[in-house]
Amino acid sequence: MREEPIRILSEPCVKCGICVKKCPYNAIAMERGELPEIDLEICTLCGACVQACPVDAIKIREKQADAIDDATRDVWVFVEQHDGNIQSITYELLGEGRKLADTLQSRLCAVLLGNGLDGQCNDLYQRGADLVYRVDRPELAWFQDEVYGAVLVDLVKRHRPNIFLCGATNQGRSVFSRVAVAVHGGLTADCTGLAIEEETGLLQQTRPAFGGNIMATIITPNSRPQMATVRHKVFKEAERDPNRTGKEMVETVAAALLKSRAQRVKFTMEEESTVNIAEANIVVSGGRGMKDPENFEMLRDLAEALGGGVGASRAAVDSNWIPYSHQVGQTGKTVCPKIYIACGISGQIQHLAGMSSSDIIVAINKDPEAPIFKYATYGIVGDLFQIVPLLTAEFKKFLTK
Ligand SMILES: Cc1cc2nc3c(=O)[nH]c(=O)nc-3n(C[C@H](O)[C@H](O)[C@H](O)COP(=O)(O)OP(=O)(O)OC[C@H]3O[C@@H](n4cnc5c(N)ncnc54)[C@H](O)[C@@H]3O)c2cc1C
Repeated sequence: MREEPIRILSEPCVKCGICVKKCPYNAIAMERGELPEIDLEICTLCGACVQACPVDAIKIREKQADAIDDATRDVWVFVEQHDGNIQSITYELLGEGRKLADTLQSRLCAVLLGNGLDGQCNDLYQRGADLVYRVDRPELAWFQDEVYGAVLVDLVKRHRPNIFLCGATNQGRSVFSRVAVAVHGGLTADCTGLAIEEETGLLQQTRPAFGGNIMATIITPNSRPQMATVRHKVFKEAERDPNRTGKEMVETVAAALLKSRAQRVKFTMEEESTVNIAEANIVVSGGRGMKDPENFEMLRDLAEALGGGVGASRAAVDSNWIPYSHQVGQTGKTVCPKIYIACGISGQIQHLAGMSSSDIIVAINKDPEAPIFKYATYGIVGDLFQIVPLLTAEFKKFLTK
């Protein structure tokens, strides 16, 4: 029989209670004179108690070691779908997942939860999946983190992937944290780079750290699966190969896992964001230099003339000039349009993190020393309130010819 993932050894334990105080999750309790007890439902195996114990009486790794031994080599990708439409982040993950699976000489598996989505498997094979785990239930028709999380946990426990990837999207961020805690997986959020370490075969997960000033590469050697949420638009979508086929595994799950405390009353699209900037080919963004929310109308005109969307810096969003869904950057969206026009944006590293891979960057700024000019393909030094309307008028003339 396997040991618990964490245990307190009665022999060296001196019942000092330090572990109780140090546990950030209040998962350890101790009656006076008794051995401390760990509530495994709450414990996340973070290891804080192990480090704090002065007599080395807490042991944590056994179950993790089992998890590592039991893990397959498979690379999994969570399929994000809205109303049955597979989202482009999934294809980006399949492209990157394929490379990881090829390096590990393992299978790439897609995990598809929903209702009536049997027709979507071919699409996933053609984009690189060898196997699709599909759970088809009416309760999964729309995304609920509680239910989706429970089903993913069940699948992970039964099939034991080595690596599990998901988009750093609203869905991914809310469901993956639940799964990681429940399966004691090692999760790195918001990755912008993935690779396999040659000597160990571990997943190297790279993400911005310390306010975007450095890139940190993280490994999770003691946990399986190695889990990462991945930023949208950082990786290219997997090319479609119409000749590729794969295998489907239709999974059944216990009815108890499908029970939810939440009920969807209705779904309302945010009215403001008419164009999803993460998908747009042209993005016109405004920053603090816009000075006033009304002035964003000028950017909407230019974006409309070009058939693009409107983005913003965090300074503009924090000033309540435009909703958060338009924010570009480290704590907003990553965009990769053909043309990115930055108006009154200085080009701080956190903003660049969300747009620097755009094909063409046009910067309009009255300060010739603004950092954005170092990254711009074309720089216009001047007052945006004069330049933007001129550009809009010219594009309108040119594009309606
Ligand atoms: C942890 C963390 C996460 C962050 N995440 C993000 C993020 O996701 N996205 C983001 O954008 N920022 C983010 N930031 C904030 C970031 O550091 C900057 O503060 C922000 O990007 C600045 O926005 P800005 O360029 O609009 O404003 P400013 O830096 O104030 O620049 C305004 C620019 O407008 C120009 N200007 C003014 N008037 C005119 C005019 N009439 N014509 C032309 N140019 C003019 C000025 O010369 C100046 O260069 C984050 C910060 C932290 C610490």
